[in-house]
Amino acid sequence: MSQDLDRSHDPERISWVPGTDGHPEFPIQNLPFGTSAEGIVVAIGDHALSLPGAIEAGWGTDLGAAITSALAGSSLNPLMALGPPEWRQLRLAVSDALADPAWQGRLAPSLTAIVDLSLTMPFGCRDYTDFYASVHHATNVGSMFRPDNPLLPNYKWIPIGYHGRASTIVVSGTPIRRPSGQTRPPESEAPTFGPSRSLDYELELGIVIGGANPLGETVPAASAADRIFGVVLLNDWSARDMQAWEYQPLGPFLAKNFASTISPWVVTAEALRPYQVAMPLRPAGDPEPLPYLQVPGDRSWALELDVEVTTAAMREQEEPGFRISRGAFEEAMYWSPAQLVTHHASNGCALQPGDLLGTGTISGPRPESRGCLLERTWRGTEPLTLPDGTSRRFLEDGDEVTLRGHAHAPGRPPIGFGSCRGEVVGG
Ligand code: CA
Repeated sequence: MSQDLDRSHDPERISWVPGTDGHPEFPIQNLPFGTSAEGIVVAIGDHALSLPGAIEAGWGTDLGAAITSALAGSSLNPLMALGPPEWRQLRLAVSDALADPAWQGRLAPSLTAIVDLSLTMPFGCRDYTDFYASVHHATNVGSMFRPDNPLLPNYKWIPIGYHGRASTIVVSGTPIRRPSGQTRPPESEAPTFGPSRSLDYELELGIVIGGANPLGETVPAASAADRIFGVVLLNDWSARDMQAWEYQPLGPFLAKNFASTISPWVVTAEALRPYQVAMPLRPAGDPEPLPYLQVPGDRSWALELDVEVTTAAMREQEEPGFRISRGAFEEAMYWSPAQLVTHHASNGCALQPGDLLGTGTISGPRPESRGCLLERTWRGTEPLTLPDGTSRRFLEDGDEVTLRGHAHAPGRPPIGFGSCRGEVVGG
């Protein structure tokens, strides 16, 4: 693996941009992409570098026409349509310029403080698929409904997923309107229609697809990782009462498609390369994956993931967020990111630049590493007490949920995803 690393991953590399050395999210080893009204930007410390601005200032003359024209638009899709060699070349060029003080004079005018920037949806989401790849999540949810047989017989053979809705993927900061829908209280024969009473978040990663495979062609396991442009944090908001009534026999529908929030920065697969770890070994007795799902040298990422909530009252008092859960991505997953990609295309399904594959709720083996309130409060039977004295089974209007994530590896600076935030407002 180490031969794949280059000087952009060097843990000793520092930038001339003030405040970046040791930055908890965006040191020079990260360099995630986002977009604002002015076009494509790269995060460096507390600042964002405008790439069109940098090109105007004379940077990037040797990048080639394909990359330069991909940087001229208002979304990352043209860049995602290129491939790993171009993604790597661009990352090196950005890293070299931000490390070399000779560029400071020309590039400093293209830096903007991130707090002064209005970040937009970083890519046009072409299609959204959501998986169910955390075995602890699947086991917890299954055991609420089938205590004796929590995992269905297909779980360890096939990555379970469903097609969601791309048009309702929104960027961090977008208010989340409480959905209304049909629900049926347990004692009642007939359903009623009204605002969901058990609105939940789901902590997930969103895998952002780059490159394209034509309809009818597959993505072999050995090259599946090359189709991952990057990763975002994803909150797959879910209305549990609507879900319980509608989900059989065809799966989630209106309980899930009213909104899903992503973080505004796409952390690239290239930046995450030093933070790769082996997939956990399958427990003894579990089946080997079928041959098409066997990824040579399969990897996950070492990521610490957090969920925080604040209530309106807590924000008024300027209280910090209350951490509801903390878990490790790499210990939660039964199916790897590459397995999700190769499985998705195994029937000839065309994956396109800007497709978003949700991992499914990321829950670890411990109660504090459960990635949604359904599990965290065990269907509302174990409410959480918040610092303002109120308790929660599910989300109330005014609650703001923030996801955070950091990749870590021995001897390397942690890199972060920024935050993925949404406030619930009344329906
Ligand atoms: Ca989900």
